[in-house]
Amino acid sequence: MRRAAFTVDVDRDVNVPLSGALPAGSAPRDGDGSPRFSSSARGLVLLVDALDELGIRGTFFLEAEAAQHIAAEVDLRRLLRGHEVASHGFSHEDLTGKSTGLPLNGEERENIIDRAAETIRDLTGVLPRGSARRISTSMMPCTNY
Ligand SMILES: [Zn+2]
Repeated sequence: MRRAAFTVDVDRDVNVPLSGALPAGSAPRDGDGSPRFSSSARGLVLLVDALDELGIRGTFFLEAEAAQHIAAEVDLRRLLRGHEVASHGFSHEDLTGKSTGLPLNGEERENIIDRAAETIRDLTGVLPRGSARRISTSMMPCTNY
């Protein structure tokens, strides 16, 4: 039997850290770097449908704020049934502070992680047991560790 792991970070559109701000933005479009979520729901549904057709379980690292936007369009409990749900922060925060210039203490990091986990649990019915954290390099905007 062959096995493979399929993981997806479910983010805001083209996330980018913002200097001096905890929540991430989106790559500027027409000079506007405000967070956008227009492709998040569409992309998630396409991926889950493809995996379901192939009988492959995925692990979806949900950014809680993105999940809130997606949940306005999609029943996340139904969509992600049978897949693993994990956390990807609340607003795609840079928990290292290297990209934002906002270093966080342990309590602040824990509060973000807990708030994200509670929000994801409320939206999916699953308390995330794993998480993916952002590290700060421009070549690798999202890395799980
Ligand atoms: Zn990400």
